[in-house]
Amino acid sequence: MAVLEIRTLPDPILRQKAKKVNRIDNSVRKLIDDMIETLRAEPNRAGLAAPQVGVPLRIAVIELPEHGLITLINPEVIKKEGERTVQEGCLSIPGYFGEIKRAVTVKVKAKDRYGKQFRLKAEELLAQALEQEIEHLDGILYIDHVESEDKLFEAAQEEEFAEGEESS
Ligand SMILES: [Zn+2]
Repeated sequence: MAVLEIRTLPDPILRQKAKKVNRIDNSVRKLIDDMIETLRAEPNRAGLAAPQVGVPLRIAVIELPEHGLITLINPEVIKKEGERTVQEGCLSIPGYFGEIKRAVTVKVKAKDRYGKQFRLKAEELLAQALEQEIEHLDGILYIDHVESEDKLFEAAQEEEFAEGEESS
């Protein structure tokens, strides 16, 4: 396994639409393992999408203490409900966080690393992470949802991020 370089803005790969994974082969599984290691090397994080490590494929990994590790291949949001204001950061936009609106609950379908289809209903931080990671696969970043400049904040020290401001 290897820790991969995380692409940051203005890297154009972050704005590309990622391609569907047709076959989950060893190279895909190796990429997933490297993404997990890359994610775990970051102190404040929730998830990572393949374009963030330079690979335009529809793959994301999320790891939160309460939920463990979730690998998503070709994920799709099938339902979103409610609206709440959250603070959000992104590993590809270091040093900033923003205040945006996210859904209260999110229902997602995806394949796991073995190609098994699953559905997941999530709320709170997991719902937020799912929304951000799946949007990454379409080249969308949380800053696109920041309504005005005064809702985007500079983080003096990323280590000082309060709970609930994990980057993904
Ligand atoms: Zn992100």
